[in-house]
Amino acid sequence: MFDQDTLTRFKALETPFYFYDLGLLNQTLQACKTAADKYGFHVHYAMKANFNPRVLAAIQSFGFGADCVSGNEVSAAIANGFKNQQVVFAGVGKSDKEINIALDADIFSFNVESVQELHVINQLAKAKNKIARVAIRINPNVDAHTHHFITTGLDENKFGINSWQLNDVAEALRACSNIQFIGIHFHIGSQITDLTVYKSLCIRINEIQTWFEDHGFQVKVLNTGGGLGVDYQNPDSNPIADFEGYFKVFKEFLNVKPGQEVHFELGRAMVAQSASLISRVLYVKYGQKKNFLILDSGMTELIRPMLYQAYMKIENVSRQAQDSGLKAQDSGFKYDVVGPICESTDCFQKDVSLPESFRGDLFAVRTAGAYGEVMASRYNLRDAVGSVYSE
Ligand SMILES: *Cc1c(COP(=O)(O)O)cnc(C)c1O
Repeated sequence: MFDQDTLTRFKALETPFYFYDLGLLNQTLQACKTAADKYGFHVHYAMKANFNPRVLAAIQSFGFGADCVSGNEVSAAIANGFKNQQVVFAGVGKSDKEINIALDADIFSFNVESVQELHVINQLAKAKNKIARVAIRINPNVDAHTHHFITTGLDENKFGINSWQLNDVAEALRACSNIQFIGIHFHIGSQITDLTVYKSLCIRINEIQTWFEDHGFQVKVLNTGGGLGVDYQNPDSNPIADFEGYFKVFKEFLNVKPGQEVHFELGRAMVAQSASLISRVLYVKYGQKKNFLILDSGMTELIRPMLYQAYMKIENVSRQAQDSGLKAQDSGFKYDVVGPICESTDCFQKDVSLPESFRGDLFAVRTAGAYGEVMASRYNLRDAVGSVYSE
């Protein structure tokens, strides 16, 4: 929902663009910070969700760390003011170049995803006469109960090291003289709304940390990853994720020993609700079976619906402004809302109930702050998508 001043502002602007509500972003970050601080938990922001400089500046100002999945993200985190000792680096395919960037930056931890990677990091660290701190990313085989396209913690997924390989890990850790083992890392998937999933994760983490201790390793860091979901259906009534409920599960079920640190890597929950993709209707096509609204944005600006079958709320903000009592759901027209790209999958959503809509109407795709702007492409040689800020 946008106020009248914001809508007036939109009308004067060229579309499409991402609109960032920095007030809501700051409120969300404050809520996350307060909830984590209550238990002394450390939060690293997963930069891949959104690395817009204004967004990063806000996040960094709260003192969060950064969770990176590429060498360039490590460099960008540091360039944007994140402290090197608060940077963690995950990814199944870290290149030598990327590992060297992270070694030079002296980051807090490599989250290592295979035994082979451990040996490569050891070699590269040795060449620089450095000690690399590592956490072992273990695949806990916990079902995140989320869409299978964004599940990462099952045996069939490519991420992490499976528990039957732990003996090999222990052997490699003992052999690698330029590696310092600091703890264990997990990340089971994204858009997780069923918090009991995290209880299952805690139980697995407790078992695995016991395994490491029994094999003579001190586990200083428990990094539980991220994945907390947001409400894509009701962005206005539920603008801030349930950080309190989320951290409370870990407080209750994770077996935290004296001196141990608990780390989190949240992406989506910190940024998703604070942006919308704003577009205009270019054309309205009435057919015998279907009506189409063709927007001036598509999969090149926002690919989540096409890539993950993700639901994102679509609103005709022009019609809502004219008749504020009219809710999109109450209205009798149905449209497939599609983009202009030459691909049949370029459809935001089918059979959307909307007020009757016309060329020039402004549309918002809500909850677009995570995995939105960062995934934009220039396919069809489209213009780069713009960004507009509330302040
Ligand atoms: C993407 C990612 C995250 C963040 O996931 P969200 O669902 O956005 O919270 C955390 N950790 C790792 C290793 C990731 O790849």
